[in-house]
Amino acid sequence: MIPNDFQYVRANSVKDAVSLLDKHGENAKVLAGGHSLIPAMKLRLNAPATLIDVSNIGDLTKIGVNGNKLQIGALATHRSVETSDVVKKNCSVLSEAAAHIGDAQVRNRGTIGGNLAHADPASDYPALVLALDAELEVEGKSGKRTIAADDFFEGLFETALESDEIIANINFPTLGKGTGAAYEKFPHPASRFAVVGVAAMLTLDKKGTCTSARIGVTGAAPWAFRATDVEDVLTGKPLDEKAISDATAKVGDPADMLSDATASPEFRAHLCSVMARRALMKAMERAK
Ligand SMILES: Cc1cc2nc3c(=O)[nH]c(=O)nc-3n(C[C@H](O)[C@H](O)[C@H](O)COP(=O)(O)OP(=O)(O)OC[C@H]3O[C@@H](n4cnc5c(N)ncnc54)[C@H](O)[C@@H]3O)c2cc1C
Repeated sequence: MIPNDFQYVRANSVKDAVSLLDKHGENAKVLAGGHSLIPAMKLRLNAPATLIDVSNIGDLTKIGVNGNKLQIGALATHRSVETSDVVKKNCSVLSEAAAHIGDAQVRNRGTIGGNLAHADPASDYPALVLALDAELEVEGKSGKRTIAADDFFEGLFETALESDEIIANINFPTLGKGTGAAYEKFPHPASRFAVVGVAAMLTLDKKGTCTSARIGVTGAAPWAFRATDVEDVLTGKPLDEKAISDATAKVGDPADMLSDATASPEFRAHLCSVMARRALMKAMERAK
């Protein structure tokens, strides 16, 4: 439980963090809340030569609305997402989900940016950014770019981030009339990580027909994915309980699912259907 030796440096701005990442190369890692990186270092699953502490960059803790976007700084803690009135007003599903991450210590230290960059297959936010069609603003030595959540997760603990890039902000849509979103998870009984978590965002027209459906699934497979088959079945249909139950009878294939001491692939596939049905039902009620 003792990490390898490492050098510690502190960044005071995003620009500073990017230049330190560039200077220290691929063996450097950004340190935010430390709730995933430090345990991994203690288990020697990760052995960065340099830690670049970004937790001092106040600009990255901000939460605000910019036009029709809810912008959350990468260093916003789970607790601040949970309690923010701006988040509750504009995209309340995020504060509901944040309230069920880990325990109080994890929520007080862990950050939304660290959670996404780590890309743990059992983390909650990956399902939410996929369902909510979020965008990640990142900054590296070649400048700023925006990555759609759909393009961000590339594998088990793997993302589209380059080694010199950091996440600065995450942009979510502000949810207006006719659109509803919900997140349902089956938590691990000890850690509260998602054995399976499903986020859904639905838009309905005045007659109750679904004009858009997005579903993000976490915990089930090596990385979070969208249940596009279910989205396609629902889009264009009048929605009710039966339509949702029929569409969610099968969400993903057990052959693609994780297997561990907590849940078999078959159980995970079953949980995907149950959590998807619950999330979609709640999203439908909220969209009405
Ligand atoms: C006991 C326990 C229970 C937990 N339960 C849950 C749970 O129920 N649900 C859940 O979703 N998560 C859970 N977590 C994980 C927790 O949410 C972590 O805080 C989060 O995954 C990582 O955020 P962090 O700020 O601690 O990142 P760190 O540990 O500091 O960093 C994690 C990784 O992200 C990189 N990184 C951090 N910030 C940035 C950035 N801005 N740009 C680029 N790279 C960055 C780091 O270099 C590192 O590779 C749990 C953790 C613990 C210890």
